[in-house]
Amino acid sequence: MTQIPTFALRLSAIRARFGEPCAPAVAAALQSLSLSRAVLLATPGHAAQAQALATEIGPAVVAVLPMAQMHTPVEVTLQALPQVLGAQADALISLGGGSVTGLGKALALHTGLPHIAVPTTHAGSEVTGILGQTEAGRKTTQSDPHLQPQVVIYDPRLITSLPAALTVTSALNALAHAAEALYAPDRNPLTSTLALQGAQWLIAGLPKVLENLHDLEARANCQYGGFLCGLVLGQVGMGLHHKLCHTLGGSFGLPHSQTHAVLLAHTVAYNEAAVPDLLAPLAAVLRAKTAGQGLFAFAQALNAPQSLRALGLREADLDRAADLATQSPYPNPRPLEKPALRALLQAAWAGHPPHIRGYHG
Ligand code: NAD
Repeated sequence: MTQIPTFALRLSAIRARFGEPCAPAVAAALQSLSLSRAVLLATPGHAAQAQALATEIGPAVVAVLPMAQMHTPVEVTLQALPQVLGAQADALISLGGGSVTGLGKALALHTGLPHIAVPTTHAGSEVTGILGQTEAGRKTTQSDPHLQPQVVIYDPRLITSLPAALTVTSALNALAHAAEALYAPDRNPLTSTLALQGAQWLIAGLPKVLENLHDLEARANCQYGGFLCGLVLGQVGMGLHHKLCHTLGGSFGLPHSQTHAVLLAHTVAYNEAAVPDLLAPLAAVLRAKTAGQGLFAFAQALNAPQSLRALGLREADLDRAADLATQSPYPNPRPLEKPALRALLQAAWAGHPPHIRGYHG
């Protein structure tokens, strides 16, 4: 029998509800926390849906602010803040993907108000105490236990409207949290189990969702998988993959979940050369020889974006991207070797499969 290693664990208190219709679940959560003046946040494109949800929840929602923007710009938070204070709100509800959850987190940090998150993608932000926001074109990330939403409501009906392309890329973003958790230096037996389970639910569920975007069972299974992957993102440190995505998103303006989708097979292949044993369980779930090859084939079968070129990155930017990615690197099981990273970026830019030898030599 293998022995449980010495490890430390920190768990945040999250109340999560799965599968129930959203409005009564939010109303019950507000009531159980004795909250009666909630502000509901959404994007402008989802204003009507947010208003309908507010009406269904009832008088405990006192204002709807459909002003969230991609990547949670600080100026939007500062515009929303006086409106939240003016409404004398005692709670925040965020309805949307990671960008709306981010606005809820930023406002919760400013006001100390409790936050009920209603996620509509698989990004996983709703179960982390991490906030990414943009200011003057720069993305910064901070961690604080106060950023963690207190309640999360997963209603599969809300995610049926997520188009196939965003379903796939936000789920591959979640899968990236799981893959990097498997080799995180601060991983522990619980996070490794959660990561693998999350990956299993997503890998089994996504093809079914793509057959029928309104399959509530498959949608709920993927929500659960995304939840598990998000949980591990909040528990352990991320490595090369998240560093490269943040570099390409922050410095070259590449879209968030699509960049995750393109890079995941390559970054996993890079690290698999150093820690094949830690990624073997993921390869087994993917029924592939290696996790890198399995992820590439999986993403291809789901019609995920395959190349950084198609996302708008110029080939001339690859050298600078490799330079930036090796500056202040995140903890990673394999040292960041610039020639190997440059080769990785070239393959990801062109849409080629990951190098079988993991970008050695
Ligand atoms: P998003 O919130 O930016 O939304 C992407 C698009 O999908 C938007 O146009 C949105 O209107 C649309 N959309 C969302 N849900 C929909 C639905 N059900 N039906 C139809 N359209 C829908 O995308 P995301 O991938 O969820 O989030 C990305 C952001 O989240 C990034 O800024 C990223 O940095 C952040 N993020 C943060 C964490 C964290 O822990 N802090 C984790 C993951 C992602």
